Amino acid sequence: MRKVIEIINEYDPGPFPEDFDREVIQLASNENPFPPSEEVINTIKENIFKISRYPSPYYRKLKEKIAEYVNMDPENIAVSTGASDILRIISEIILEPFDTVFIPMPSYSMYLLFSMLKEANILIKVYDSYKIEGCEFQGKLAFLCSPNNPTGNSLDKKVIREFAENFEYVVVDEAYADFENKTALDLLKDYDNIIIVRSFSKYFSLAGMRVGYAVADERIAKAIEKIRNPFAVSMLALHAAIAALNSLDYYRKVSKIILKERERLERELKKFFHVYESNANFLLVKHEMRELPKLLMNRGILVRDISGLEGLSGYHFRVTVGRPEENDKFLEAIHEIYENQERTS
Ligand code: PMP
Repeated sequence: MRKVIEIINEYDPGPFPEDFDREVIQLASNENPFPPSEEVINTIKENIFKISRYPSPYYRKLKEKIAEYVNMDPENIAVSTGASDILRIISEIILEPFDTVFIPMPSYSMYLLFSMLKEANILIKVYDSYKIEGCEFQGKLAFLCSPNNPTGNSLDKKVIREFAENFEYVVVDEAYADFENKTALDLLKDYDNIIIVRSFSKYFSLAGMRVGYAVADERIAKAIEKIRNPFAVSMLALHAAIAALNSLDYYRKVSKIILKERERLERELKKFFHVYESNANFLLVKHEMRELPKLLMNRGILVRDISGLEGLSGYHFRVTVGRPEENDKFLEAIHEIYENQERTS
């Protein structure tokens, strides 16, 4: 086995609802807490018997729909099994051993894993609250994330431009960008080295389906398409993603509720904690009680304990904005834990 496999830390997905023998509230993985649109559900039902066949590996219709959504041409789109797979493929098409990869932290940990797998020379810089003001480095590839997981803030276009001037390639991971009105997509007309990575897992409530895409210069999109697995997007995932793009009104309505709930959660959590400003469907919270995520878990609420993530000092958890009634329960649990603490201290 390759030496690098031994030194790579396993991705820690945190606890999952399946690990419990009772119902839990899942606020740990930044999913959309609302179901997919009715059109998506009906399409899945209608196409269920097609699963004995392979999907067409060119995914023409899906690429056309995505192109329409992001206002680009289908030739600029590459699709695969989630944004995570797209990120892996990007590292495959770009990185040679010892190439310099830049990863600002704290951010999504898979950038590090994929770069390590390619035996790249990895440059990490910690930015307090992921506030990146400019680009001080040069190299082959930079992994930027906007809005960033886990801090929730997004990057200014001016900063992304600076990275594009200094790196041969720049990934802008926009897995959560559908939740805000900000995107780096329009930079693609000026820069043929920017690759925007997006997902159907978050905004479109399709995390279990596994569909992601890249938007980039035709040459890059073609390279990604060339080496992805031929049938990377399953038959049902393909139909579900197309139907999701046909029901944008529903997702706009749902995301409005999520953003309103995020404001409420932020307001309430600020009474206890330092809460980072977020443009996504989750909040990063700094706290003082090491066992807090566990105490929440004991009450059937799953948040992501990310204490120890490179670039975060002190205890932190990340909480996904849930449905209003789930957020109520989460807030009640926080109140209860802190009131108990007062009584016992
Ligand atoms: N990028 C970021 C920033 C993420 O947070 C995630 C999911 N946690 C992904 C990519 C991967 O998403 P997908 O489900 O599309 O693989």
